[in-house]
Amino acid sequence: MLTMVNNSNTMEGVLLGNEPLARYTSWRVGGAAEYFYKPSGIADLQNYLGGLASSENVVWLGLGSNVLIRDGGVRGSVIYTRGCLSRIKFTSSDELYVEAGVPCAHVAKQTVEKGLTGAEFLAGIPGTMGGALTMNAGAFNGEVWDLVTSVVVINKNGELITRRAEEFEVAYRTVNLNEGEWFVSATLKIPKGSDQQGKERIRQLLAKRSETQPTNLPSGGSVFKNPEGDYAARLIEACGLKGYQIGSAQVSEKHANFIVNKGGATANQIEELIAHVRCEVLGKQGVSLQTEVRIIGEALIK
Ligand SMILES: Cc1cc2nc3c(=O)[nH]c(=O)nc-3n(C[C@H](O)[C@H](O)[C@H](O)COP(=O)(O)OP(=O)(O)OC[C@H]3O[C@@H](n4cnc5c(N)ncnc54)[C@H](O)[C@@H]3O)c2cc1C
Repeated sequence: MLTMVNNSNTMEGVLLGNEPLARYTSWRVGGAAEYFYKPSGIADLQNYLGGLASSENVVWLGLGSNVLIRDGGVRGSVIYTRGCLSRIKFTSSDELYVEAGVPCAHVAKQTVEKGLTGAEFLAGIPGTMGGALTMNAGAFNGEVWDLVTSVVVINKNGELITRRAEEFEVAYRTVNLNEGEWFVSATLKIPKGSDQQGKERIRQLLAKRSETQPTNLPSGGSVFKNPEGDYAARLIEACGLKGYQIGSAQVSEKHANFIVNKGGATANQIEELIAHVRCEVLGKQGVSLQTEVRIIGEALIK
């Protein structure tokens, strides 16, 4: 049961119980959220979080493109940002305020249209800005934190805190966000460039992606981080694992660091395949791969 310790203010967002999460993830797998909250905006989110019991488990979800949600789903509250924290606004000619639920592709398009250059790489990242900040998402030599000047985070009490980019330790696909804090918005500074060059660059980046990635099948993007000086895909391919399948989960034949859902895969099959790949790469190549995708939720107890 959802325990609200302070519900004196009315909730304006949408609260759903037992909401299936597979429809909110790019792998199209995963069980249900005990509670699923779509806030109407930041103030409403402050009210919702501030009203929760401190013991409530809280999980955030953007576009679900970097998560494997287990088949037993998530206990507690899932906060969904896409279409909820969706404001984007230019605050000067080269600076913009963007909320956590805005898709990365939207930021790429808007900045290019303003004649700014440096955020084009975001066009091919199928997530939200909140997810991108959490993962320090990047592609084609660009990383999201290269663009950030400050962020606003929210804590479990619903309090907002502004933090400068320099306060964070940022590295490959990671940032040291405090436990119990989440991103609600960021301010980005993007240098001036040329509108036409930016559009052409986005076109090229997207073409390169569909050439090299299985964009036609549900996946979670790159499953493993690239180890220092090497590529996870190269190591997996060298083990002869391209096309290897457990149930309907398959190591992509196009890109070995992707696991695709061929139709009807379960989260458990994907997790077993991840474990198998790790074990093979460790045994045959001597490298311990670390997952880039976040595995969350409860296993299904049969
Ligand atoms: C086909 C494909 C291609 C991809 N290509 C790339 C790529 O080139 N480069 C790259 O870096 N990634 C890539 N990804 C992975 C993914 O798109 C990125 O990591 C993206 O930034 C995740 O955003 P999201 O909104 O989907 O996050 P989610 O998957 O919803 O969440 C990811 C993690 O962030 C947490 N989270 C979400 N929102 C917030 C928030 N506001 N505050 C705090 N925590 C939050 C979640 O709890 C979870 O732990 C790809 C994925 C796919 C499916």
